[in-house]
Amino acid sequence: MRAGAAVAMTVVTLLTAPGRDPAAEVGARDLDRIIAAQYADLDSLYRDLHAHPELSLHEQETAKRIASELKAAGFAVTSGVGGNGVVAVLRNGEGPTVMWRSDLDALPVKEETGLPYASDVRANDDSGRLVPVMHACGHDVHMTTLVGLARGLKDLRSQWSGTAILIGQPAEERVLGAAAMIKDGLFSRFPRPVAVLGMHVKADLPVGVVGYRAGPAFANVDNVDVRVYGRGGHGSTPHLSVDPIVIGARIVLSLQTIVAREIDPIEPAVITVGSIHGGTKHNIIPDTVDLQLTVRSYTEETRNKLIEGIRRNVLAEAQGGGAPKPPDVTIGESTPATVNDPGLTARTVAALKKALGDDRVVEVPPIMGSEDFTYYGREGIPAFMFNLGTIPNETIEQSRRPGGKPLPSLHSSQYAPAREGSIREGVRAALTAVLANLSAP
Ligand SMILES: [Zn+2]
Ligand SMILES: [Zn+2]
Repeated sequence: MRAGAAVAMTVVTLLTAPGRDPAAEVGARDLDRIIAAQYADLDSLYRDLHAHPELSLHEQETAKRIASELKAAGFAVTSGVGGNGVVAVLRNGEGPTVMWRSDLDALPVKEETGLPYASDVRANDDSGRLVPVMHACGHDVHMTTLVGLARGLKDLRSQWSGTAILIGQPAEERVLGAAAMIKDGLFSRFPRPVAVLGMHVKADLPVGVVGYRAGPAFANVDNVDVRVYGRGGHGSTPHLSVDPIVIGARIVLSLQTIVAREIDPIEPAVITVGSIHGGTKHNIIPDTVDLQLTVRSYTEETRNKLIEGIRRNVLAEAQGGGAPKPPDVTIGESTPATVNDPGLTARTVAALKKALGDDRVVEVPPIMGSEDFTYYGREGIPAFMFNLGTIPNETIEQSRRPGGKPLPSLHSSQYAPAREGSIREGVRAALTAVLANLSAP
């Protein structure tokens, strides 16, 4: 009896070794089984999506493919929501409604990964220009994960209760798709979720590691257009004209002093002049010069200071150069900062740590990039987007050695996620995150 008890004690100790939760163990076996059963099929879906990218607002074939995959997984699918948006609903009894978002679009980038399934697609952009197209932002990983998630939710439907909504969102890269889907009734024609979740690949995080940030995670972004007016003339007689190119050059430099001298050094802020255009020929002073700026910040106060500073400096330089009329400063497309809901983040991160291990779920710093995922949270629904690492550890380590090859960033022609690990761990993370927010049956 005593000996028997001692044996039983040992077994119990092994099963409940530190960091292992019996409930999570059952979940892990289910996840392993689902991923193993689906992997080959998801892998071929990924290669196919990767080889056939479509530009923002042109995602027709991609949307069709995703809609048919989600339908086959047992979801009720509505297409054409806010353009090429896809909404898939699985009702599974009483309980909360949870939404998961993937994006659909690709970028005008010429792929240089050398992969056997690399894209050689070329397509006309909105201006009619023929451009190369590539999934350089990993949205093909997101879509493959979306399909794996749909099949997993269907498979595990005896283990959860509520409504799952999976969406394929168009035009993320143009910051148009989320707003278009909301405007087309995403939250009124379909059950209104209590949580919106999403995941984005990360190009400097080890494959299978999840990165997250509670609170502000992505920046405010404003696109600003400036037109400077001068008075054109012959290049040999500058005294008879007002040269807007010289004024434009001064503007580029004086804008840099706003961040350096007017913003609290502890406060994140960026002003980048990404484009400057003026003139046609060596010896002609043009009438105008156009500048395009991206302006990034985290708080409304800093954003207002940056924009006010741009208006003031642009006007001052134009006046200083004797411009015949004040410049135009136009604040165009703007994306508000993405703020992850703290409660939703904490609950989801706890589940991810159980499923992936504490050391594979890490906090990441906020970035000055932007995401139109922010619009879902702005509808008053708690939202949380986390990152999925996609790069082999050895590649990251090698890049950190002296003289090592720098890692290609997202949007790079050479960005190539480690396919198998990204798909397997992407599905694991997505299923874990969604299930953590649905009810037990
Ligand atoms: Zn992108
Ligand atoms: Zn992206």
